[in-house]
Amino acid sequence: MPYDQQSPINLANPVVTVSAPGALSIHWGTGPLDGIVTKDSHGAKVVFPLDPSRYLSLDGHRFALRSFHFHHPSEHLLNGRQMPLELHIVHQDLSTCALAVLGVFFDLADTGHKKSKAFVEELGKKLAGIEPEAKGKDTIPPIIRVRPSDLLPSEGHAEYFRYEGSLTTEPFTETVSWVVLRHPVRRTQEELSGLVGAFHSEARGIQPLNRRFLLANFDPESAE
Ligand SMILES: [Zn+2]
Repeated sequence: MPYDQQSPINLANPVVTVSAPGALSIHWGTGPLDGIVTKDSHGAKVVFPLDPSRYLSLDGHRFALRSFHFHHPSEHLLNGRQMPLELHIVHQDLSTCALAVLGVFFDLADTGHKKSKAFVEELGKKLAGIEPEAKGKDTIPPIIRVRPSDLLPSEGHAEYFRYEGSLTTEPFTETVSWVVLRHPVRRTQEELSGLVGAFHSEARGIQPLNRRFLLANFDPESAE
């Protein structure tokens, strides 16, 4: 089978389109969620119990919130630049099983950034303390309380890239609608290190765009 719609890609020179209002909307609810931590030699992920009322809507299609994980360094490049960390929040269309993954870069904060007491910092610490799953052992998986919106940049999710791609791990299935936010979450080196230590998944190399279009709903020339 020819694989020609693979991920990740370099997010550069997008076709700028004005999305219809509501092209992307996020409905994760306001309260925190209890996620189950799965950790193995490839890294950690946090899996949410299936709840169709918590979803991401893309062009009117609903994708239920399923899980999140990080890659270090980032898998997508932003104008050729690799970021320290990339968050993938995975959503699934429950009728077709197609995925919509919301990608969020994490970058170093400028000097003068006040040390954040936010959840992201706590997350790294909590996860670093969790041992990888012992195979064949009946252990109760650790639970972590997460408000997914705490994982988004302060600029929100109004500006983003979109393209059709694939899983970045085997079996590399090409059923993923990618939405990658323009603005990174900014954290200090210390905060980033905490997360990197907890999620040490590798990053797959950049794949060719081939005949696809990379779309952006903002003007890349405009100031951030
Ligand atoms: Zn990923």
